[in-house]
Amino acid sequence: MGADGDGGPVHGSVLDGIGATPLVRLNRIVPEGGAPVWVKTEWANPGGSVKDRAALAMVLDAEASGALAPGGTIVEGTSGNTGIGLAMVAAARGYRAVFVVPDRTTPEKLALLGAYGAEVVPTPGLVPREDPRHVQQLAARIAAETPDGWLADQYANPANPDVHERTTGPEIWAQTGGRITHLVAGAGTGGTVTGAGRHLRRHGVEIVAADPWTSRYGGGDGSPYYVEAVGHYLHPLTGADSWPAVYDTAVPDRTERVGDGESLRTVRRLAREEGLLVGGSAGLAVAAALRVSAAAGPDGLVVAVLPDSGRIYLSKYFDDAWLTTLGFLDAAEEPLVRDVIG
Ligand code: PMP
Repeated sequence: MGADGDGGPVHGSVLDGIGATPLVRLNRIVPEGGAPVWVKTEWANPGGSVKDRAALAMVLDAEASGALAPGGTIVEGTSGNTGIGLAMVAAARGYRAVFVVPDRTTPEKLALLGAYGAEVVPTPGLVPREDPRHVQQLAARIAAETPDGWLADQYANPANPDVHERTTGPEIWAQTGGRITHLVAGAGTGGTVTGAGRHLRRHGVEIVAADPWTSRYGGGDGSPYYVEAVGHYLHPLTGADSWPAVYDTAVPDRTERVGDGESLRTVRRLAREEGLLVGGSAGLAVAAALRVSAAAGPDGLVVAVLPDSGRIYLSKYFDDAWLTTLGFLDAAEEPLVRDVIG
């Protein structure tokens, strides 16, 4: 709550509410004798995720360069939070939005995009990159063939990491009064960890990338995992391995690899012990942050980025039957991960 008499800001549009998200201290799940862990609540952005920042930044950049003109159409291949952010920005600034989505996208996600008035073009999710039906290929073609079409291209668009270097990183530095010692963040496109990491590294902060156990980013074999929107796996049919141009892997000092079970049990602990309802990539980041905290000791200050809310994952991460079937509810049922990380 604000101070007495402080009613909070009045925004000229919903987009002014992007960024300046609170840091929240974890109180109950931090290891004894470990460093405090504070979390950056990116679900507090108006579209519900960290990707609102990149969505707005990419659109403003395209407007400034003339790549996106009034009445134009925003196109992207995405079924996730970037689509929701771009759909929100498109609605607020008067653009048409078209998203190419893999055909397995959940009805909830499709409904969210539609709720903002965006158009959705489903395409097979499991085709090789050279196939004209591939999500990125089809999105690029629609952008090229639509008059005033503009492809956001989050995996290659430098406005994505840049916005985190200009906003997320400096916010965290200011909010901790310069006391942060470690930043922990997962990487999807790598925009968050690259940008925020670039800023905080200049202040001597150690940058830790949190990565799903089998993800290629952290040296895994590229086999699939359940935590969504982070890490990098090999194409299930072709084995293709394409790394995003925006992810500067020289930024993280090291990677903490976390199994699905540990990430998802951390998601549940955050809800039940801290009152924080978050998504799987947030559980991943906090699981890694708890390890970093234990190793850093009481003089450290660890900040973990929590990219989105748990609300769109209720039927998975918060469903005991789903977790039990996959063997994630009980740590003892995860021999591989338990053996390796002790
Ligand atoms: N978590 C979630 C839930 C996301 O949607 C994303 C974006 N793909 C990320 C983490 C990773 O963010 P970034 O693309 O900046 O690496």
